[in-house]
Amino acid sequence: MKRLDGRVALVTGASRGIGAAIARTLAAEGVRLGLASRSGDDLGIAGAVARPCDVRDPASLEAMVAATVDRFGGLDILVVNAGVGAYGPFLDLPADQLEELIDVNVKGAIYTVRAALPHLVRSDAAELVTIASEAGRRGLPFEAVYCASKFAQVGLTRALDHELREHGIRCTNVCPGGVATDFAMGRGRTPDMPQLAGMMAPQDVAETVLFVLTRPRNHRILEVALRPMTETSWG
Ligand code: NAP
Repeated sequence: MKRLDGRVALVTGASRGIGAAIARTLAAEGVRLGLASRSGDDLGIAGAVARPCDVRDPASLEAMVAATVDRFGGLDILVVNAGVGAYGPFLDLPADQLEELIDVNVKGAIYTVRAALPHLVRSDAAELVTIASEAGRRGLPFEAVYCASKFAQVGLTRALDHELREHGIRCTNVCPGGVATDFAMGRGRTPDMPQLAGMMAPQDVAETVLFVLTRPRNHRILEVALRPMTETSWG
C-alpha cells in the first residue's frame, strides 16, 4: 500500500542528488509532484510538474507553485532542498560564491516558503521539510559561510514550527552529514576525494524524509541529524 497516496509535494533542487532521491521516493509512495530546479528535469516521473525554477527569483517560485497547485488542486508537502556549497578558508571564498551561498540557501529557502505557505495552510496534513545540514547544527572549519547559511535555514524552520503549529503544519529540519552527490564539486570537493566513498547515499536522506512524513499526526519531528559512520561526532 502506498503510504502517501494522493498527497501533493513540491521539491526544490529536484533534478539531482538528494532532491531527486526524495522525489523518486515520494513518487513511489503515490505522491503527486512539482519538481523545481533551474534545469527543470522531470526525472521521468509520470505526471510530475517540472519546469525551470530558480529559487533566487520569487516570481519563478510563484509560477512553479501555481503550476503545481493548478495541476493537482493543492499543496500538502514542501521540501526545501535546493542548495549550494563551497568549502575552503574563510578569506579565500570568492565573492560570487559567497553571494550565491546566501542567495540560494538563505533567501531561496525564505522565498520558497513564502510562495508555498498560502497553499500549505489549506491542507489538512501539511508538512514543511527543510534539508539543512550538520553544518546548520555546529560550526565546522572551512565551511563558515555555508554554516551561516545552514544555521539560517535551521532557524527559519524552527521559528516556523512555532508560528505554524496552530495551522497543523509540521516543520522539520533534516540535517545530514556528508552525502555523495555533485554537491560542492570543484568548490572544495573533488570526484576522487577518498571521503566520498564513506559518505551516505542520497537515498539514505530520502528514506529519512519518508520516515518524517509518515509519522502519525499526533506528533511532529523537529530535527533529524544523520551522519556517516566515517564522520566523528564532534567535527
Ligand atoms: P546537488 O547534487 O549539487 O544538487 C543540488 C540541487 O539544487 C540540484 O537539483 C540543482 O539543480 C538545485 N539548485 C541549485 N541551485 C539552484 C537554484 N538557484 N534554484 C533552483 N535549484 C537549484 O546537491 P545535494 O547534495 O543533493 O544537496 C541538496 C541539499 O542538501 C542542499 O541544500 C545541501 O546543502 C544539502 N546537504 C547536502 C549534503 C551533502 O554532503 N551533499 C550534506 C548535508 C546537506 P539545478 O542545477 O538544475 O538548478
